[in-house]
Amino acid sequence: MNLPGALADRAAERALDQILADSFPASDPPSWNPGMIRPPPAATAPAPDGAPRVGLHRGPMSRSRHALAAFESYNDPTVKPQPRRTDDAIPGLHLAELLDFRPDKGIIRLHDQRVVILSAAAMGLLRKELIDTLGVEAARRVAIRFGYADGYHDAVNLRERSNWSDPVEGVRAGLVLHRLEGIVRAEVSRIDHDASTGRFEEEVTWHDSYVAEQHVHHYGTSSAPVCWSLVGYASGFVSACMGKEIYFRETSCVGQGAKHCVAIGRDAASWGPDLEGIRADFEAASVGHEVERLHEAVSKRLKELNRRERLLERRERELNLLRDRINRHATAKHFIAGSQAMQDVLELAARVAPLNTTVLVYGESGTGKEFIVRLIHDQSPRAAAPFVSINCAALTETLLESELFGHVRGAFTGAVRDKAGLFEVAGSGTIFLDEIGEIAPTVQAKLLRALQEREIRRVGAERSIKVNARVVAATNRDLRAAVDAGTFREDLYFRLGAFVITVPPLRDRREDLPPLVHNFLTRAAARMKKDVSSVSADAMSAMMRYRWPGNVRELEHAVERAVILANGPTIRMRDLPPEITQKSRARAADDTLDLAENERLMIERALERFKGNRKRAAEALKISTVTLWRKMKQYGM
Ligand SMILES: [Zn+2]
Repeated sequence: MNLPGALADRAAERALDQILADSFPASDPPSWNPGMIRPPPAATAPAPDGAPRVGLHRGPMSRSRHALAAFESYNDPTVKPQPRRTDDAIPGLHLAELLDFRPDKGIIRLHDQRVVILSAAAMGLLRKELIDTLGVEAARRVAIRFGYADGYHDAVNLRERSNWSDPVEGVRAGLVLHRLEGIVRAEVSRIDHDASTGRFEEEVTWHDSYVAEQHVHHYGTSSAPVCWSLVGYASGFVSACMGKEIYFRETSCVGQGAKHCVAIGRDAASWGPDLEGIRADFEAASVGHEVERLHEAVSKRLKELNRRERLLERRERELNLLRDRINRHATAKHFIAGSQAMQDVLELAARVAPLNTTVLVYGESGTGKEFIVRLIHDQSPRAAAPFVSINCAALTETLLESELFGHVRGAFTGAVRDKAGLFEVAGSGTIFLDEIGEIAPTVQAKLLRALQEREIRRVGAERSIKVNARVVAATNRDLRAAVDAGTFREDLYFRLGAFVITVPPLRDRREDLPPLVHNFLTRAAARMKKDVSSVSADAMSAMMRYRWPGNVRELEHAVERAVILANGPTIRMRDLPPEITQKSRARAADDTLDLAENERLMIERALERFKGNRKRAAEALKISTVTLWRKMKQYGM
């Protein structure tokens, strides 16, 4: 905002007053108005050397001198009251006369204002807190305003007890005060002041700025100057002295890696177009605005978070419903899935079922891949539409192609009439391609096209047909390995593998085995009308130990067989298929060093390998058939 002439000055005055009013407690109101800053008309007589004398009022000083004596005796005997040194920038300005130190009362006064001594490190920490909580920009403004208030206050107090004839002397006094207060050693490079035009320009060098030291200590070298409170102090002090807006700006800084800090101060008009930006840094409302801005940003973020949370909750509820439905479905179909591994599989199926995504179900044979595929169809919006399936490994290349895509009459020998393929039959339902890893390259290419273009062409046909069926495929082969071996197209692999569900083998979810056994047992016994209802402990542990390469399907068959063989209400060891009991015994013997046990085991293996042929088993064991017979009798085989 650039206000013309007097209007700008009044605005500046109001701004300065506001800054002070905001900076000090009500009990210590600013007693300044621009008029007061001007030197009183009847100044003291010129000093003998002719230079304007800048002295201090006598009154308060006697107490200060007294205080300094106390300070010396209390603290540091080497500090002596200094005679007024004429080499000071402002002769007569001495800490001795400014400081009222009362160790017994815990009060220090600097030109009648209570002051406290804080370590530079503590100030540095406070500054860091500001930066970390408000951000650099807001912290910078707070520090500038803090410095401004400090400097302005110092100037007003010093002015009250000084008789300087030229405000520039007050400016020089401020530098000394700054140094005495231990804040920074300031040196004026030049001061240009034209009283007639009001033009003011000062260049000052700051040595060993504690602010820059602290900043570098906490944050390292900065890209911009960091002595914000010093800039504020200089601006406040000089503004108070000159009775108008003077703003300083640091042009190089130790915080940026410079040897010392340099700042330039100018009156408002001399700053030209930069004024508005500079003035904004000093405005009292800026911190309030910043807090308000942060507050708004936070509440906006909170609203967004709440919205997302509600969305997540809704998704979670939907997913729970799906999960329940799928679990109920699984239970109804006697699909035992108590283990975490199978629960995870059901969860994945629940998530993908409602979508149109192509799904690839991995798993060894007999793990229940078909069930998962069927479940995905049943829980999808396509449930009412057809579900068609085909075992790709069971058909020749030509037949598979014709089955999937159909053919026209005369397309090949035996094609006596047009035939729709499964893609057409499935309509908007699901087509299940089992053993997808086995299909020939030509069919792979056509399948890829069907998935990408959503259209197929019957064998021998000229035109394409749009298709809408969802494809779910299953395989027990490692398709990635097939891709690497060059037998399976990589693009098709990625198309199919958009969403992969891996059904774990039975041996990886052994906790599901007992309930599966009982489930199969109950159903088989009912079917066969046999009163079999339990499994002996050793038979169950044999089944628990077995690897089940044929998985759940193998287990079901084994239990059925045991129910048939069972002689009584309990399934015993002898009712189980030999591979289960033998291997379990073999496994049990694996870590024994018992010679007899190992001999028994070797005989068992030999008999197993030669399907009970004792002559060949004896040959392999390098013993006679008589010895074999004797040992079999000995081991009760
Ligand atoms: Zn600096």
